[in-house]
Amino acid sequence: MNKRITVIKGDGIGPEIVTQAMRVLDVIAEKYGHTFEYQEINAGGNAIDLYGVPLPEESLQKCLDCDSVLLGAVGGPKWDHVEPARRPEKALLAIRKAMGLYSNLRPAKIFPQLADASPLKPSIVAEGIDFIIVRELIGGIYFGKRRTEEIDGQMVANDEMTYSEEEIRRIAKVAFNTAKKRGGKVISVDKANVLDTSRLWRKVMEEVAKDYPDVTLEHMLVDNCAMQIVKKPSQFDVVVTENMFGDILSDEASMITGSIGMIPSSSLGDGTRGLYEPIHGSAPDIAGKNLANPIGTILAAAMMLKYSFDMDEESTAIEAAVEKTLDQGFRTGDCMSEGMTRLGCIEMGDKIIENLR
Ligand code: NAD
Repeated sequence: MNKRITVIKGDGIGPEIVTQAMRVLDVIAEKYGHTFEYQEINAGGNAIDLYGVPLPEESLQKCLDCDSVLLGAVGGPKWDHVEPARRPEKALLAIRKAMGLYSNLRPAKIFPQLADASPLKPSIVAEGIDFIIVRELIGGIYFGKRRTEEIDGQMVANDEMTYSEEEIRRIAKVAFNTAKKRGGKVISVDKANVLDTSRLWRKVMEEVAKDYPDVTLEHMLVDNCAMQIVKKPSQFDVVVTENMFGDILSDEASMITGSIGMIPSSSLGDGTRGLYEPIHGSAPDIAGKNLANPIGTILAAAMMLKYSFDMDEESTAIEAAVEKTLDQGFRTGDCMSEGMTRLGCIEMGDKIIENLR
């Protein structure tokens, strides 16, 4: 297969980690007879330095004209003083919006080799943590009307939460399709005992479920879900929820896996083109020192193969190479523990490639 990938190395550790992910993709291309053509663009702080804006029009066009986007991270203290409308993160919001990326998939998976890093009890971790949160990304309260006004001598603020059937239906389909590729179980999270948007959410989830007889659907209230994630995370396969609940639950879920440097994420819209990135930021404190953990970005590239390019075998091969590297006791500084061998970012890329070959 021939795929065109738009690459945003970004700021801070972005260029270091994305370079390792591209090396891994090159090995996949060689091994499985694919061609990955990269088009690198400037976005974020580096684009502000070069062009005065976080996302030049040409960069945006290349995100729209490709098979998928691979991103490191953007931002850093250098651009903290920039006016809000031109901040580095505006580039990402603009890309997500222009690409119509309404679903965000974030796996919460614990590597048994890193079990000690989880804040959960070993007995809970031992049951296994391997689920994915499907979050609605461009609707709900974050995108609703808002106002603050004075009423009867005091300030009153108002944020509106709106969901249409269509917005719910399209994210439901993403969740059910994801479950088909995994354990076949969707847990839909809402607050249907209080919110109208949640009651509509539940109804549409039930309707969509009828088209997926091989996937089971359960409903869970968001407050209960927050508890269950730390009490019995092994019960989850695919969790689907609205924007704000997903924002909060996905951070909780990434925390229980113990390491921010290991977790990838994907954002998808209609069709197969997506945006793939690690969940962490640009880590300016360790940038340029060959200290960053490239695994989150390498696993983001693996997600791209699976969810956008339908290359399941290739994706699994990358995951297996990462697991093997951890089994061999190799770690970057962020997840180092006694008895393990410490590697830099480049050397971690080397080991994963060695195991992939
Ligand atoms: P961060 O995720 O960059 O860093 C938090 C801590 O985790 C730091 O100590 C860092 O060294 C460490 N860390 C993160 N990724 C690591 C990796 N791969 N390997 C080893 N250690 C790693 O969060 P922050 O410090 O709050 O943000 C720094 C900058 O990144 C800010 O400008 C923020 O706006 C930006 N940011 C960008 C994105 C994105 O591009 N999607 C996301 C979050 C934050």
